[in-house]
Amino acid sequence: MIPDEEVERVREAADIVGIIGETVTLKRAGAAFRGPCPFHQGKNPNFSVDPRRRIYHCFKCGESGDVFTFLRKRFGMDWPTAVRHVAERSGITIREVSSRRDGPDPRERLWEVNAAAEAYFRRLLQEDPGGSAGREYLAARQVGLDVAERFGLGYAQRDGLRDHLATLGFDDERQLEAGLLVRREDGAIRPRFRGRLMFTIYDVASRVVGFGGRVIGEGEPKYLNSPETIAFVKGRMLYGLNWARNAIRRADRVLLVEGYFDLVRLAMAGVEEVVAPLGTALTPDQGALIARHTKHAFLIYDSDKAGLKATFRAADELLRHGVAVRVVTLPPGEDPDTFARSAGREGVERQLAQAVDVIERKVQLLERGGWFADLHRRRQAVDHLLPTIRATADAVTRDLYLARVAEAT
Ligand SMILES: [Zn+2]
Repeated sequence: MIPDEEVERVREAADIVGIIGETVTLKRAGAAFRGPCPFHQGKNPNFSVDPRRRIYHCFKCGESGDVFTFLRKRFGMDWPTAVRHVAERSGITIREVSSRRDGPDPRERLWEVNAAAEAYFRRLLQEDPGGSAGREYLAARQVGLDVAERFGLGYAQRDGLRDHLATLGFDDERQLEAGLLVRREDGAIRPRFRGRLMFTIYDVASRVVGFGGRVIGEGEPKYLNSPETIAFVKGRMLYGLNWARNAIRRADRVLLVEGYFDLVRLAMAGVEEVVAPLGTALTPDQGALIARHTKHAFLIYDSDKAGLKATFRAADELLRHGVAVRVVTLPPGEDPDTFARSAGREGVERQLAQAVDVIERKVQLLERGGWFADLHRRRQAVDHLLPTIRATADAVTRDLYLARVAEAT
């Protein structure tokens, strides 16, 4: 088995223009390269290869992916073969870990069917008459179709996907396994996502591992995610890390937000070092994952009670991994989506500059609540602060926190 970090290393080193250019005639067009699409056998230069983002995309048929996807779809290579092929071409020796399993990666079955579903959802949203509800919804939220394409947004109709995937050779069993279909208690099989705007969830190697669907109009739940599968372990990944990882390293900071739209909007405003945990509480694995990329985190969660609770839990998890945590407070009634839409990058940077350290934010809230006024409540206030101090792995930071708490009490 090839570890994800190794896959990523190969992807970053690969000359995607050179590799695709061996079989497709590409000509430079601005920052990208254009040529005829080998997937729909087009004659016009609708097929674009972007070396900066390391992806290809056909504006006509919607085929898109990275260098590995290209080799798999174009030449039928299986996943490990594609990675080894590119590694060899790029002069990289990859470290493979032995696994008791023989044969192909068992997650490949799911990546494949998910990728096919993604292409279907995307096409509906971009151009199909059946996707008009999705387009209207996006327009109302002021998200352009170009942005939708960049972030893998799509639309799920009430039905249609199941038959489409069947014609591509994906049977019900495989669709159930990926969570695209659901078997009800009475045995009936139905689509999981119906009438929803779809966010594609990629792992760090940009493989499609699941979806988040936002209901359009009334309906519950507002957001519905794919179930956990062997390819989609929510607590071990972060939404958006595939796009953000280089920006995080460059900026040496990460912004954590709660929602898909928050992330997309911030990236639209030019703030790309953003990820979102796929659930309410940040897990230890997610904390470790962030710490591998940067030691500076900004939390931009809701300021309501639930949001603050999630903020402090996430902060403790990050502190445990030696990450310094600052808390961003947005003006009342704003979330990162609405705020970045109106205030733009400058406004976001202004809020980041005003962010306070998590211990400061806790002390602030306790002070405002009058917790330091009398002896009994002061004792309780300290109990609120102790978990954060205990969680702090960095000794210098912990001493500073203790001093701050002593000062407040
Ligand atoms: Zn095409």
